Amino acid sequence: MEQFNIAGPKSISLGAIADQADRARDMMTQVRSAMLSPTSRKSTPMINLSQLASLLDIEKGSIAHRMTRGDLPTGRLNASGSRREFSLAEARAWIREYRKDRLRPQGGEAVTISIGNFKGGVGKTTTAMTLAQGLTLLGHRVLVIDTDPQGSLTTLFGKLPDADVTEQDTILPLVLGTETSIRYAIKPTYWDGIDLVAAAPVLFGAEFALPARQTQEPEFEFWNVLHYGIDDVRPDYDVIIIDTPPSLSYTTINAFMASNGIVMPLPPNALDFASAAQFWSIFSDLTGELLTKRGLNKEFDFLHILLSRVDSSDVTSNIVRHWIQTTYAEKVLPVEIPKTAVTATASAEFGTVYDVDRYDGNAKTFKRARDAYDLFVSYVESSIQAVWRKQVQSYAQSAGQSTKSK
Ligand code: ADP
Ligand code: MG
Repeated sequence: MEQFNIAGPKSISLGAIADQADRARDMMTQVRSAMLSPTSRKSTPMINLSQLASLLDIEKGSIAHRMTRGDLPTGRLNASGSRREFSLAEARAWIREYRKDRLRPQGGEAVTISIGNFKGGVGKTTTAMTLAQGLTLLGHRVLVIDTDPQGSLTTLFGKLPDADVTEQDTILPLVLGTETSIRYAIKPTYWDGIDLVAAAPVLFGAEFALPARQTQEPEFEFWNVLHYGIDDVRPDYDVIIIDTPPSLSYTTINAFMASNGIVMPLPPNALDFASAAQFWSIFSDLTGELLTKRGLNKEFDFLHILLSRVDSSDVTSNIVRHWIQTTYAEKVLPVEIPKTAVTATASAEFGTVYDVDRYDGNAKTFKRARDAYDLFVSYVESSIQAVWRKQVQSYAQSAGQSTKSK
């Protein structure tokens, strides 16, 4: 190792920073190939009979019985012939059949959810990914939109923002006005049931393009670009999940305006609480300026605060939890995502609890984390279903009106 220089640090030119950037990027490429080898693509875990039974909420025997009808995938026996296994896609075919009455009804369209918080490191990206994965395991089809130029969510899908993502894979053309529908950017992913609109550092350009267009184009509404951009694909998905950057940027405002609901991950500690308070006050000032002053409005169907990265050994968290309960009341979801090594190590491998095939650590720890995410996902599913009910009602009303007027 080089000695730390007592004479003070060496000066660093921009050229040296560029070299350093190259080295860091090379390292990411190496890490990725090591993590994702041999195919450099992520793969989904196999689902065994017991896991499928629990996803379907039925007995294992009922699966065997139902299989004799021959209309659902039979999976295959593993190498030793001791276990029947299903791919994610096969399992999802079963889930969609067994949960038919809980899926998106006719007259309903994609419910859009932004994951937002000013601060980095509160669990936004992890929440976006686990919510998307969890919802597909309940049978839903999800479009995930990464709007953070850092592209962490994109990385969780096994794509390197610097190497694997072009401008055309991102929302940038929409922002620049060269495209009007997000459809061009949608790509399938390794995870059955999730499509992705990726992010890359070029997206930083959105923060200049949006205000510039606002001054140049009289009719332009910079806050509605994403809202209008996803209209075209709302009928194609059950849920659209938008991960946002750790700032209240032009892009984040776009994400919120496009959304039916917001999920804010919030670790119960004092600084994160303070930061969230600032977030809401700035958000409210901004929307007042943009919308209320113009006589416009925006209503959210739900707003959930998710206690995230909860450290059970931290004694102060009880106090802050109390502040959070008092401030956000019924908006706080009755579940806590524990701070856990399961998520930490899985993340080092570019994954989440749902990516883990077999956990090498403590089974109880894993189950606790997995159960917490499952519960979180089921609460959000209830909110989604409530939005669908509203949509179906207004769909039926407008259908009724149009038959009356005939
Ligand atoms: P954000 O998008 O808000 O910046 P991330 O989801 O990227 O936050 O999480 C920040 C870091 O915290 C990541 O390294 C992630 O793996 C880790 N992390 C997220 N959730 C948990 C958790 N429940 N327990 C432990 N570490 C977590
Ligand atoms: Mg993030």
